[in-house]
Amino acid sequence: MTERRLAIVTGGSRGIGRAVAVQLAADGYDIAFCYRSGADAAAETEKLVREHGAQVHHAPCDVADYDSVQEFVAHASKELGPVHVLVNSAGIVRDNPMVLMPVDDWRAVIDTNLSGTFNFCRTVAFSFMKRKEGVIVNMSSIAGVYGNPTQTNYSASKAGIQGMSAALAKEVAPYGIRVNVVAPGFIETDMTEALPEKVRATALKAIPLKRYGGAEEVADLVSFLVSDKAAYITGEVIQIDGGVAL
Ligand code: NDP
Repeated sequence: MTERRLAIVTGGSRGIGRAVAVQLAADGYDIAFCYRSGADAAAETEKLVREHGAQVHHAPCDVADYDSVQEFVAHASKELGPVHVLVNSAGIVRDNPMVLMPVDDWRAVIDTNLSGTFNFCRTVAFSFMKRKEGVIVNMSSIAGVYGNPTQTNYSASKAGIQGMSAALAKEVAPYGIRVNVVAPGFIETDMTEALPEKVRATALKAIPLKRYGGAEEVADLVSFLVSDKAAYITGEVIQIDGGVAL
């Protein structure tokens, strides 16, 4: 890439989002990332991104709030130019068997994971279409492909992201815009660190490659998907899961 262009990463303060922000900075992008409230973690991501010579804009922005999302994208574009890449990585879990799931936990996960992804896609799509360029990668999960017990809310939100992304990919393909989905398996981040040891051990047994994945490995896949090397790939759901699908 000759000149730096802007990539937005939601949930860029920690975990997979941070790894993606750092990798895209290494690839030559300037980075705008949002998070919900973790300012210290955001400062650490900023430092890592700047080490690659990238300019960076970050701010707290609840992805579930459409007005905040519009404000975030407007500020980022004003500071760093038009958006070329959008990676939706912000996500939460609120696990419980359905019969015990508080309705608020259902709503929080759908609002953050699914509506949050819609809010960012909706905000950048028109500008992408006008300029006839832009790439979107949305973060799903193998839970969205197979369903996970105790995760009806999370699985539904991720399956929703896949359906939404397929439909959007068809809508924007005539404008040369690509939309793909990455569906990770078990990746070592704060999200999975919080799981009980028994759950972690059971998950490990189901992984043919016999190890958890790293956030950087997911970031490498995102980096490929946003690059011109993936210019003929759109509307796909690509699993990165150590072989769980086998
Ligand atoms: P982490 O919990 O490590 O990080 C989540 C990030 O999302 C943080 O930056 C957090 O900000 C941000 N975030 C959460 N809610 C909001 C919100 N409402 N508005 C803005 N930002 C928000 O998660 P991971 O890195 O593990 O997961 C990243 C994505 O990958 C998620 O979509 C997840 O579902 C998906 N995934 C993860 C897997 C894994 O094994 N880790 C497996 C499959 C999919 P803050 O710190 O301020 O709350």
